[in-house]
Amino acid sequence: MVEYITDDESQKVEQLNKEQEALLEAMAAMAETTTPEPTATPAPEPTKNAKPEEPDYMSMFTIEEINDEIAARIKGKSYAEDATIPLSDLRYLKIMHYGFDGKVREGEMIVNKAIAEITIEVFKELFEIAYPIQKMVLIDEYDADDELSMADNNTSAFNFRFISGTKTLSNHAMGLAIDINPLYNPYIFTDKNGNTVVQPANGQPFVNRNSNSRYFIKENDDLYCIFLKHGFTWGGDWQTKKDYQHFEYALEN
Ligand SMILES: [Zn+2]
Repeated sequence: MVEYITDDESQKVEQLNKEQEALLEAMAAMAETTTPEPTATPAPEPTKNAKPEEPDYMSMFTIEEINDEIAARIKGKSYAEDATIPLSDLRYLKIMHYGFDGKVREGEMIVNKAIAEITIEVFKELFEIAYPIQKMVLIDEYDADDELSMADNNTSAFNFRFISGTKTLSNHAMGLAIDINPLYNPYIFTDKNGNTVVQPANGQPFVNRNSNSRYFIKENDDLYCIFLKHGFTWGGDWQTKKDYQHFEYALEN
């Protein structure tokens, strides 16, 4: 998965080179041009019809209750048979975001209704800074298998499950935790035999946080600041284990 970084960076360099070429061409063209004839009538706005209007992306962020169609998608998967949270406490969100290719796409996510609006605020701010998120579909697309979803770098929230290797309910089970670009921001902990576990397993190349990837979540970076401003805490700040992908929200009791 290191190739992702390399590909992406080479794309970026290519893009920069293209931009530079275009700029040089434009400068050359300007140098050749003689002073333009003053026109008697003001020129019409040339771009008015030529440029398609940008969609109102902010209006495309939505919050819905769990309808029958969504319920059918999640029942027996992320909404496990022993799920103790009522469906009426969950909300289905549509979230616009920028992919790794820089294109805008629509994502989906289920969270606790208590944080539905805060979550939308967070992702609107991430949208405004064009924060790259590779994939955002319900974990049910992976049969609610967290490892598969993380390995595919899928960003997700609700999943009625226990903390890996324990009998404690995860905050994801209450829809109060969100994992961002999990492949590049793996969960690293020591199991009871003293072995270091990396989840997803293919996140191993990203365990060393000193290397530089634009997809790494780091303390005080833009994404971190946006989440913390809205009251989330970060798994990368934990002491005994590190969950770099993980932000959670504590409801007041
Ligand atoms: Zn998590």
